[in-house]
Amino acid sequence: MAEEAYDLIVAGAGLAGFAALRALERHGLGDLRVLLVDAAPRRGDDRTWCFWERAPGPFEDLVAHRWDALDLFAHGGVAQRLAVAPYAYKMIRGGDFFDAMEAWTAARPQLERRVGRVANVRSEGDRAVVEVDGERLEATWALDATGVPHDVPAGYHRLLQHFLGWEVATDEPTFDPGVATFMDFRVPQEGGTCFVYVLPTEPHRALVEYTVFGPEVWPEEAYAERLRTYLCEVRGLGGYRIERTELGVIPMTDRPFPASRGPRVRTIGTAGGRTKASTGYTFTRAVRHAEALARGWAATGAPPALPAGRGRHGWMDAVLLRGLATGRQDGASFFARLFERNPAPRVLAFLDEDTTLPQEAVLMLGVDVPLFWRLGAEVSWSRLRAGRRASMRP
Ligand SMILES: Cc1cc2nc3c(=O)[nH]c(=O)nc-3n(C[C@H](O)[C@H](O)[C@H](O)COP(=O)(O)OP(=O)(O)OC[C@H]3O[C@@H](n4cnc5c(N)ncnc54)[C@H](O)[C@@H]3O)c2cc1C
Repeated sequence: MAEEAYDLIVAGAGLAGFAALRALERHGLGDLRVLLVDAAPRRGDDRTWCFWERAPGPFEDLVAHRWDALDLFAHGGVAQRLAVAPYAYKMIRGGDFFDAMEAWTAARPQLERRVGRVANVRSEGDRAVVEVDGERLEATWALDATGVPHDVPAGYHRLLQHFLGWEVATDEPTFDPGVATFMDFRVPQEGGTCFVYVLPTEPHRALVEYTVFGPEVWPEEAYAERLRTYLCEVRGLGGYRIERTELGVIPMTDRPFPASRGPRVRTIGTAGGRTKASTGYTFTRAVRHAEALARGWAATGAPPALPAGRGRHGWMDAVLLRGLATGRQDGASFFARLFERNPAPRVLAFLDEDTTLPQEAVLMLGVDVPLFWRLGAEVSWSRLRAGRRASMRP
């Protein structure tokens, strides 16, 4: 048996892995002997994170741009300018994030890096066991960001948020770097809920992403064709250069995610259910989870198991997801109406699960109430049936 050398193995050197390590240090657990494992030798500029915050967050120094105003365009073209204060809408570039994390890691000798494929992260008695390229490694604890489940148990739903983004540069000043486009539904609503978001960082430069909430990923050319049409016909752009592309898929599911795998393993990030089922936003939830894990660990001597997606917010996510997945809820009008009938900060607080029940009751008046309750009843019923089936299995 391999000798146990580590207090903690972190599987996955992505957002959640680094957020957890940084939070542990902030809470006085920076001396743990840690092994951080990832299949990729070094992550690059493969994603751009956007999120909203009321105050500086733990990655504030990496924020490349922020906006106080957001535009939303309904499918029919009605424009809303949303003032988001006391929030700011913030952007962190993956390249900046991973460069900073490499430098941070290199300055910590107690933190060992290893490149390898992780499998079978599990608890065995009072040890965490992680297989890396077939080698068995042990630690007192493991945090696992690698095992994202792809199956959908009966009674649950799954969509994919899939997208292509282009960082475009223009010769003429074209964009207003003071206003981002949060959702522009003035595109064909085919193959799912489709919208474009535009993140202008300079008058000559913006990241423009064609996003779909739908059942399956498209070939790259399908997004590219729609992006070209959008830039030309909706934005009126004549010439532009594409300086970077960003392709992505984010799973949106209400399936349960185990917070633990036995007593010694905690799941984190998307693998730990921190991707919001109804929107795909993960950044804030992964960072908050890291903070709560570290705080609990510092207070009790063990990382707490903190389930995700439960309670009424999880249920409301499931209701919207069911509506979108079954095609009965038109996503474009849902989001446009939600923002039209409520102040933007209230909607943002709701999406962050920071609202109270009375605030949610007011928010829900803005949606199709009979459809919401019908879908809600179906979600509750299908979960009940799934639970019964599971309990009847031998
Ligand atoms: C292109 C893109 C843009 C996004 N934009 C936003 C956004 O704007 N706002 C937002 O809130 N969310 C966004 N998300 C969703 C979410 O924030 C990210 O996916 C985030 O990176 C999730 O963090 P994570 O640590 O769970 O996963 P990751 O950051 O993907 O990290 C997981 C790590 O585990 C490694 N790994 C996986 N399997 C194995 C294995 N078997 N062995 C070894 N290593 C393994 C991977 O190489 C990776 O480095 C985006 C996602 C994508 C893909």
